Amino acid sequence: MNASASRWEAVIGLEVHAQLSTRTKIFCACPTQFGSRANSQTCPVCLGLPGVLPVLNRQVVDCALRLGLACGSRIAPASVFARKNYFYPDLPKNYQISQYDKPLCEGGQVEMMVDGHPRTARLVRIHLEEDAGKSMHDQTGGTTSLVDLNRCGVPLAEIVGEPDLRHPEEAGAYLTALRQLVRYLGICDGNMEEGSLRCDANVSVRPTGASTFGTRVEIKNMNSIRGVVAALEHEIRRQGKLLDEGGTVNQETRTWDPDRGVTVFMRSKEHAHDYRYFPDPDLVPLHVDEAWLARVRTQLPELPMARLQRFTAQYALPVYDAVLLTESRELADYYEDLARTLGDAKQASNWMMAEVLRLLNERGESIGRFSVRPPAVAALLHLVKDGAISGKIAKEVFDEMVATGAPAEAIVARRGLRQISDEPSLTAAVDKILDAHPGQVKAYLGGKEGLAGFFVGQLMQATAGQANPKLANQLVRAALERRRSPA
Ligand code: ADP
Ligand code: MG
Ligand code: ZN
Repeated sequence: MNASASRWEAVIGLEVHAQLSTRTKIFCACPTQFGSRANSQTCPVCLGLPGVLPVLNRQVVDCALRLGLACGSRIAPASVFARKNYFYPDLPKNYQISQYDKPLCEGGQVEMMVDGHPRTARLVRIHLEEDAGKSMHDQTGGTTSLVDLNRCGVPLAEIVGEPDLRHPEEAGAYLTALRQLVRYLGICDGNMEEGSLRCDANVSVRPTGASTFGTRVEIKNMNSIRGVVAALEHEIRRQGKLLDEGGTVNQETRTWDPDRGVTVFMRSKEHAHDYRYFPDPDLVPLHVDEAWLARVRTQLPELPMARLQRFTAQYALPVYDAVLLTESRELADYYEDLARTLGDAKQASNWMMAEVLRLLNERGESIGRFSVRPPAVAALLHLVKDGAISGKIAKEVFDEMVATGAPAEAIVARRGLRQISDEPSLTAAVDKILDAHPGQVKAYLGGKEGLAGFFVGQLMQATAGQANPKLANQLVRAALERRRSPA
């Protein structure tokens, strides 16, 4: 660590936009589907034509309430939509409908894991707003800009975090936890590359141990969690160096350049917009009563951190394993299915950690699309339990199950992989091997006991690896001992 890094401490607060996965937009019935032909999903409402009225989509509120309740936020009985006024070609109304001084959710927290330890970071608020369109500059190689308004009116939840984070890795853990949470809740696909989850990072530095905050810089344009961490690392170094050299940090917005690995000046505070917020006269206040909240509450799934803790307690899993196995709802469901069917949580987690996760990684596949389902895996592991196949053979069989979709039993039968546990035939094979290697037998009996392994190896070769390994060992030693004293 250099001197500058220890003199300055970072303070980080994230603003995250989550695109809510409703079928239609927030104030009109246009579809929200990603990647459709430009401007094919628009109507007079989301195009901002005169004489139209927005109608709030109830599903959007349901999504935000799920998130608010999951984070322990206070839900406002009445919240207000406001117009945020600014001019930009991708915003045909010249204002964005958002929430300002009366947001839907206030307070609450995000629970996360940092280096295997649980931590929380507080939230300022969660509010609803509509997305703007997308400008595409210089797509044709010239100076033209194109605009796609399909995204206008797509529902967003903006999640504003308190400046509770102190390290870039903590910011990464916060985003990881938030992405996991919205996926568990089924309210957002969490895809940062497609922009379904977007993050602006605010960061300042202060002398280590100070109690006040320094001047913050806002960084935009990171499209992965790793990008956020890298941008923060760079920006913290930049601010520390600036202060070390006797300079000051200006409140400004910077953009992350992933190719060069630096943040670049975008605009200063003086050029910040004056949004002239006022309540949208076209929308009545949003009233959420107890009955609505109760309905949403009963539909909440078990949340990621609760599930992680239950996994460590109920299945005696190490935290590391529990973190991996609860990464997504589908993976956790898969594991619990397997543990139940198999009746052995430990064997199930070993197999998940070593084999299932390995194959998912190799194939770049998600568990939801993984063709071999828990009952088929349980059938395979039962063969190991019953001594029909060894653990080593089971891995081979599993690879083939994944490749061909055939059940374990069929593969074992077709390839003749069943373990040989038949004592008389194995003993006969051992005797034959000992007869063929009189020199080694003599050496063994003379004290070179390590040669037992050689004979076991020979037996394995003779049986194409199918001799029950434990039994093979026993039988080899017994046969050798029988030759010790000539009867
Ligand atoms: P704005 O409305 O201009 O975006 P806010 O006060 O709402 O400003 O703050 C936005 C974000 O900035 C929040 O996530 C908050 O945690 C973070 N933040 C505020 N002050 C600081 C600071 N001094 N250093 C780092 N982050 C900060
Ligand atoms: Mg901001
Ligand atoms: Zn529309």
